This record gives sequence, structure tokens and C-alpha cells, in this order.
Amino acid sequence: MNRTTTPAARARGRLTAAALLLALLAAGCGKAGTPPPKGPQPSALPSYQVQDASSITGSPTLDAARSRGHLVVGAKEDQPYLGQKNPATGEYSGFDIEIAKMVGAFLGFPPERIQFKTIASANRETALQNGQVDYYVGTYTINDNRKKLVGFAGPYFIAGQSLLVRKNDDSIHGPQDLDGKKVCSASGSTPYQRIQSQYPKAHLIGYDTYSACVDNLITGQVDAVTTDNAILLGYAAKVPDELKVVGPLFSTEPYGIGTPKNDTVLRGALNDALEHHEQNGDWKKAFEATLGLSGAPAPTPPKIDRY
Ligand code: GLU
Repeated sequence: MNRTTTPAARARGRLTAAALLLALLAAGCGKAGTPPPKGPQPSALPSYQVQDASSITGSPTLDAARSRGHLVVGAKEDQPYLGQKNPATGEYSGFDIEIAKMVGAFLGFPPERIQFKTIASANRETALQNGQVDYYVGTYTINDNRKKLVGFAGPYFIAGQSLLVRKNDDSIHGPQDLDGKKVCSASGSTPYQRIQSQYPKAHLIGYDTYSACVDNLITGQVDAVTTDNAILLGYAAKVPDELKVVGPLFSTEPYGIGTPKNDTVLRGALNDALEHHEQNGDWKKAFEATLGLSGAPAPTPPKIDRY
């Protein structure tokens, strides 16, 4: 029989399929017809003992949060297993969110007194400088350039830059294969800057978020998405039939909690908080109940750097 599909109709069909996939991704489900991949299990999450933090004095950020009655914490909302917002309930979940909650408990704030606010990679420094957030937990690499603008507690995790491609792509095995390819990353991120400076023959495209990059990868508008392996493994785990993480890690990305630059009391308290929850086992439990489910290798927490 004569098929009447035109190229335009075929493209529409592909787009509809892609839209369905994206809707499922947003809802945290797997591909239609397959069981949803394992997600964070609320029952497995530790609860963190709220401390009496009255001895922590001299932090302008903490003083403001105390008189406000709650903390405002910057985070990501579209990074599975790390920082993800449930569109139906508005609740945030993932490893970064657990880190934010455990250190919040150390500062005297139970989870119901933490308000999360989504801030994109490119806007983190300004958000901390303007007091839009008290601290920031969202795959935020500690480096010297950023330290000129903000403070960092941690590191609490070490990731590395990697590549996400379509499952059926056999042409990209590492950053050396990116010449002439369309590569997407988040503007203002360290992976974006590294492609720009070290792989100038790649055709680099910047979006606000990695999920926008992943949408464009699934629909074929870009050939690869690059950022930290921890982030990419989460996207691949959601649609393992469509996407794969390839190649070696080609950077070191130590994740820190961003703070206002001059609030050294807050920075010190956050470092104490991380050490406390690493020693009592909360960090490990939180990792296993969140990021560990994406296939990210289970590390031991890195040594805190009190600079
Ligand atoms: N860790 C990198 C960074 O801080 C990439 C991830 C992100 O954009 O949050 O820039």
C-alpha cells in the first residue's frame, strides 16, 4: 500500500514521540510500556536530628534566616537523583537536597523550615551576592574564580566532566571526537567553559539548564550533552534505551555548598555540619537512597577543605 507520510509528517511523528518521552521524563517515569526505573525511595531517606545551634553566632546570613523563620536554599530542579522538583507537589528531592537538609538540621532548621529556590548555573554567584538564597547546594564546583565572588563549604562530593550521547551513536567516545559536533551544556558552567577553551572545534551550544540540552539531544538537534558524570548518569538512568554516558572523565569537579563570600561563620558551621553528618553515617545513607540509584559509584566523602 502506498504510504502517504511526507517528510514533514514523519518529523511531526518523531517530535510527538519525543514530546511523550519528555513528558515521561518530567514526570519521573520511564519509557511507555517499561517499568519506571528505580527512583529515590522516601522511606529509605534518613531523617536528620535538628541541633540546638544557638552557639553559632555572628553569621549575618543565619541571623536573617532566624528572624525570617526559615532558610532559603538555592538548588537545581531538573537534575534526577541530585536536585529535582516534583511538578505536582513542588517538593524537591535528590542527593543535593539531602545535603541541604542535613546541614540545615545542624543549623537548627528542620526540613519544613527550608524553602528551596531553583537557581540556574549561570545565576548562582549573583543569587548568593544579592542575598536571594542563604546557601546553595546544586552540583556547584569549587574553584578559584568563583571563590573571588562567593564562599564554599565542602567539598562533599567529587564528580568529573563526561559526555551523554544517543544510544545508537557510535561516533563519540570522548572529547577528542567532538570536532564539528553540536555539543550542549549549561551557560556559566565549568563544563561549558572547558569545551570553549580546550575543544574550540566543537560547535558549542549553551542553554540555561541541562534538561533543555537533553531534550535537544533526544530530538536530534544536538549530538552530545556535556557536564558532570553524576548529572549525566541520572538522565541516562531515566531513559536507558535512548541515552548513554560515554568516555573517560576529563576534569575534576569538587562539589561545594555556596555561601555569601564574607560570611565565614556560616562557611565554618557548614563545614562542621558536613563533617558531623559524614561521621554519623547520614551522608552515606543519603547517597545510597538518591544518587547511588543512578549507578554513580559509591565514594567515601572527600576531605573538607577549610580555606
Ligand atoms: N559542576 C559544574 C559547575 O558547577 C557543572 C554542573 C552545574 O552546572 O551545576 O559548573
